[in-house]
Amino acid sequence: MQPLLNENTPVTESALNAIAHMPTASLSALMDDAFTRRLSDADFMRVAVLLAQKSYDEGGCPIGAVIIDNATRRIVGKGHNTLVQESHPYNHGETAAMRDAGRLDFSQTTLFTSLSPCDICATLLPMRGVARVVIGDVTNASGTEALLREKGVQVDIIEDAQGIALYARFRAENPALEREDWKGVVAKG
Ligand SMILES: [Zn+2]
Repeated sequence: MQPLLNENTPVTESALNAIAHMPTASLSALMDDAFTRRLSDADFMRVAVLLAQKSYDEGGCPIGAVIIDNATRRIVGKGHNTLVQESHPYNHGETAAMRDAGRLDFSQTTLFTSLSPCDICATLLPMRGVARVVIGDVTNASGTEALLREKGVQVDIIEDAQGIALYARFRAENPALEREDWKGVVAKG
């Protein structure tokens, strides 16, 4: 059976939103390789931002991430921050996507994150050999790009206007939750 998203399907926001919500292991039923190969880096960043939006809609922190295989461009992992949803003090977008990907050789992958990584994720990504990190927002947070580059990670900035607006809205609406995500419950104030 031909997947819904194929060589003839336009790359729309609805298609990217379906990709964001579908379990990674089931993506091959939704999209074929011809569709996948037409997705640009900006499109994968859109998926990361749509995962951030999903988290926001659940009452959580709006940060999402997507990992692709560099050779095939297939999505091998994705996720979003689950501080609220799982009462998880340290599951960020990046760690959620890596957990979803499992025991991969991350040196063959690119990780797209909707927000500039925190210090710990910026340490973890090179520790697991991630070859390339694409960052969708260095407006609301930044500072770890130099650390990533020092550790040999290729860092590219592809800012996503909707993602930047979403995170700014979250910070304005719920500053205590935003502080908790970065610095723990002690910082909620
Ligand atoms: Zn982090």
